Amino acid sequence: MQKQLKEIRMLAEKEIAGSKSEQEIETLRIKYLGKKGCLTDVLKQMAKLSAEERPLIGKMANQVRTFIEEMIEKRNRGIKKITQEERLRAEKIDVTLPGKCRKLGTKHPITTVLEEIEEVFIGMGFNIVEGPEIELDYYNFEALNIPKNHPARDEKDTFYITDTMLLRTETSTVQVRTMEKASPPIRIISPGRVYRVDEVDATHSPIFHQIEGLVVDKNVTFADLKGTLEKFVEKFYGASAAVRFRPHYFPFTEPSAEMDIRCFHCQGSGCKICKGEGWIEILGCGMVHRKVFENCKINPQIYSGFAFALGLERLVMYKYSIKDIRFFYENDVRFLKQF
Ligand SMILES: [Zn+2]
Repeated sequence: MQKQLKEIRMLAEKEIAGSKSEQEIETLRIKYLGKKGCLTDVLKQMAKLSAEERPLIGKMANQVRTFIEEMIEKRNRGIKKITQEERLRAEKIDVTLPGKCRKLGTKHPITTVLEEIEEVFIGMGFNIVEGPEIELDYYNFEALNIPKNHPARDEKDTFYITDTMLLRTETSTVQVRTMEKASPPIRIISPGRVYRVDEVDATHSPIFHQIEGLVVDKNVTFADLKGTLEKFVEKFYGASAAVRFRPHYFPFTEPSAEMDIRCFHCQGSGCKICKGEGWIEILGCGMVHRKVFENCKINPQIYSGFAFALGLERLVMYKYSIKDIRFFYENDVRFLKQF
């Protein structure tokens, strides 16, 4: 039996030293120390031994057990250390490698120009207000003095969602929403997307951006309108820019006008951009119609005001000499990277 125990000890030592994983060690532990393990087998035979031999073999068996237990513990520690080192080596970061570059985008030209315009008007004491793009028929037409039979209401021009709901065709809706809530003095601009049924081509898109402006106070006159818009053009296009106003018709303003700027390309002598006119139309404007005031419960005997709306895309196209409106919405990075 002594010989058996010695053999177990030797074999266990060899096998444990050669083991390579915690799992392997566990298998060896069961093999040598488990309930059906080698050592237990030897101990089971102790009953056959004489009274003198029993304590001797018992002691020896215990020594072998302790020895194997210690071996296992030592080997386990060793393996844990090795796996940890391996993991550290595998996860090591090579700081000398070049990093992955995150591509930075640029502002869309429409955003850039919008921010420039906002800055000019904020400087003149205007607030920026936004309104919903899905709008009630009332705010888009009724309140703006556009009667039921007006051609602008034609389903061919407007995206209707239901009989009373639509995609707003202009940012003027925000005028009404603002006047309903706030009492004068009011000085706002409202930029945003508007929608019209339109075939897509180089200068038309069913979605585009407008900037609406509204001023309401006591004693506001057409002179204030002209002064404000001239100041805007001066700040935006420079001191040499000239403007002219032409009479026009809008249902929600009276009198109404369209404002042109002198062609910045040919300085008025006529070119392709201004189609030989020497002038380029950039916005519509006028004095707020008394019916619009009445619809918003503002007394037109006490207050007056002016409103204007300009198409943002057109300004951006002029500014950067962009020939096709579709470039704005195609999200082609080759186009957008230029700004
Ligand atoms: Zn021109």
